[in-house]
Amino acid sequence: MSPTDTADAPIAQGLRRIRDRIAEACLRANRPPGSVELVAVSKFHPATSVAEALAAGQRHFGENRVQEAQAKFPALRAEHPALRLHIIGALQTNKARDAVRVADVIESLDRPKLAAALAEAMARESRAPTLLVQVNTGDESQKAGVARAGAEDFLRQCREEHGLRIDGLMCIPPAGEDPVPHFRYLAELAARHGLHTLSMGMSGDFEAAIAAGATHVRVGTAIFGERPAQ
Ligand SMILES: *Cc1c(COP(=O)(O)O)cnc(C)c1O
Repeated sequence: MSPTDTADAPIAQGLRRIRDRIAEACLRANRPPGSVELVAVSKFHPATSVAEALAAGQRHFGENRVQEAQAKFPALRAEHPALRLHIIGALQTNKARDAVRVADVIESLDRPKLAAALAEAMARESRAPTLLVQVNTGDESQKAGVARAGAEDFLRQCREEHGLRIDGLMCIPPAGEDPVPHFRYLAELAARHGLHTLSMGMSGDFEAAIAAGATHVRVGTAIFGERPAQ
């Protein structure tokens, strides 16, 4: 593909726009440009869209479902060894082994049974994806993530009982609420526990998340457009 072809492709354009906005948000927050990793959320979009993003230099991708990730990513990874796949959706315990096989980062660790299943799968597969604990910062009953009140205990349990190294935290603030208090809460919790990775911020609020200290933003719609209906 010539550079011109890439520049004219809508996904390449979307990526360039988002990277520019991330760089500007870093500047405003007095943070080094490049201190925020863009995770392009490709769920429900075809592998051809991921390939377009790869051609435009994008390397980190996010998928909600392990099965969809397994269908889309192994072939692309063979061509792009630097590709990094993040599993960002609720993870069933019986998918732990598949998740460990396919993912470089699992962002949705949120309960003791899953911690045990991941620890076992990591030992069996001799693979150690980076792990983030998802916190249900809005304590919403329908949402994945460990409850606020249980977060500190769960972090300790992951480390001490399951021998897991936890790199950071992830959250999805409640829709229709100001996300900033949720971002700040997550950043404070991470700082108290010496955790460096903060995955927060999506298409509608990633700049606010960067101001609050996000190290990873997960952006789908603003790059790939509306998701196709399922
Ligand atoms: C879908 C999804 C995103 C991306 O959302 P957009 O609003 O399309 O940017 C980010 N994080 C998680 C956990 C998601 O499920």
